Amino acid sequence: MNHFTYQNGELCCEDVRIKDIAAQVGTPFYLYSSATLRRHFTAFESGFAGMAHQTCFAVKACSNIAILNLFAKLGGGADIVSGGELFRALKAGVEPQRIIYSGVGKSRRELAEALQAGILMFNVESPQELDRLNEVAAELKTRARIAFRINPDVDPKTHAYISTGLAKNKFGIPVTEALQEYLRAKTMAHIEIVGVSCHIGSQLTQIEPFIEALRKVKAFIAKLNQEGIQIKYVDMGGGIGIPYDDEQPPHPIDYAAAVRAELAGMDCTLILEPGRVLVGNAGILVTEVQYTKRNSGSEKRFIVVDAAMNDLARPSLYGAFHEILPVRETAAAEKQQADVVGPICESGDFLAKDRLMPEVQAGELLAVMSSGAYGFSMSSTYNSRPRVAEVLVSGSSFEVIRQRECYDDLVRGEAVSGLC
Ligand SMILES: *Cc1c(COP(=O)(O)O)cnc(C)c1O
Repeated sequence: MNHFTYQNGELCCEDVRIKDIAAQVGTPFYLYSSATLRRHFTAFESGFAGMAHQTCFAVKACSNIAILNLFAKLGGGADIVSGGELFRALKAGVEPQRIIYSGVGKSRRELAEALQAGILMFNVESPQELDRLNEVAAELKTRARIAFRINPDVDPKTHAYISTGLAKNKFGIPVTEALQEYLRAKTMAHIEIVGVSCHIGSQLTQIEPFIEALRKVKAFIAKLNQEGIQIKYVDMGGGIGIPYDDEQPPHPIDYAAAVRAELAGMDCTLILEPGRVLVGNAGILVTEVQYTKRNSGSEKRFIVVDAAMNDLARPSLYGAFHEILPVRETAAAEKQQADVVGPICESGDFLAKDRLMPEVQAGELLAVMSSGAYGFSMSSTYNSRPRVAEVLVSGSSFEVIRQRECYDDLVRGEAVSGLC
C-alpha cells in the first residue's frame, strides 16, 4: 500500500498534486511519501513486537538524511557499508548504538571512524578484516564488538547480481571456516564477540531461503555455545522483496512470524537490516517527456524523457521492471508498445522496453513507480548530468530534501592541469 493515487485525474502523492511539485522544482526529481515510509516502518516493526530486536535500515537503499532521520525518530538504526554512510547516519541523528557495519572491504580509516563513533557491531567478512580490526581497535585502546557474516550457501532465488549468500558470492565466511575464526577472535584482546550475522540477497520473494539460512545460523550458534562462546545478537540481514510488477513477496508480518517461530527459545536480540521493503514503494521518479519518435524501417515507438540510466540504473543494470504511469490520468485509450528512453548515449539507456504505453505528448509528466530503493542512491552524473532533486511529501506539504545539482557541482574539485 502506498500513497500515490489519482485524485480528479491527477496523480498525487498524499494530498499534493505531482504536477504542482514539478512546476516548482522542475524535472526530473525523486519524490517520497512520508506517510508511506512511516507506514512501512511501523508495519515491519509490528511483526516483531514484544521480541528483543533492532531494525537497522540499510542506508544504501535510500541514503538521504531526511529519510534516515525519519526512521531514526521511529526508533530505527542503520546498517552501513561505508564511512560515507556512517557520516550520513550520524548526521541524520541515528544513535551509534543502533548502527551495524557490513561490507567486504572496510578500510583502516573506516574501521577507526566506526570505532570512534561507538557503533553496535561490525559484521566481519574475512580473517584479514578481523586482524585489521583488532589492530585498529588496539591503536584506539578500545574493543570492537563483532559478528562474523556467515555465508550459509543458500539460494535466495533472485537476480544473480543481488544474490549474496551462495558459496560462489564474495560475501561472508563459509560456515565450515567460521568456527575456527570465532576461536581465533576469542583470543584477541581488542575483539569482543557478540553476534552472528547473515544476509543472503535482495528482492527475495519467498520466505523459505531466509528460514533455511536461519536454521544454519542456529546450528552454528549451538556449536559456538559448545566452545563457550555466547551470542547476544542474531543478525538476519535484509532482503525481503517488493511488488514491482506481479511478484508476490512475503508480507513482512508473515516473514516476522516465521523468523519468530524459528528463534523461539533462543536468548538473543534479533537484528534486521531491511532496505528495499521500507522505501521501494514509498518513492517515485518524476520525469518529463521531451520527444516522441518512430524510426523509419521499424515500427518501434520511442518516448524520450528527461530522466536516464544515470538517474535510475535498475532497468539498465538488472533489466528491472518499473511501472510507468502518466501523471495526468488518460482515458482508457488504446495503448501501444514503446520504449521509454533517456538522453544518454547508450542503447542500454532505457527505463522501460516494449511497454504498452498510452499516447503521450512532449511536455507531459510520467511517474516511474517503485523507485524509492536503489534509485537516487545508485544515481551518477554520467554524461555530465547533474544529479536530480529529491522531494519529501507530508500530507498537503512538500519540501526539497536535496537540491538539484548545478553545473558547478559537476566540476567541484576539478582543475585544469598546470602540467601541460
Ligand atoms: C543491501 C543489504 C541489505 C538490504 O537489502 P534489501 O534487499 O534492500 O533489504 C541489508 N544488509 C546487507 C548486508 C546488505 O548488503
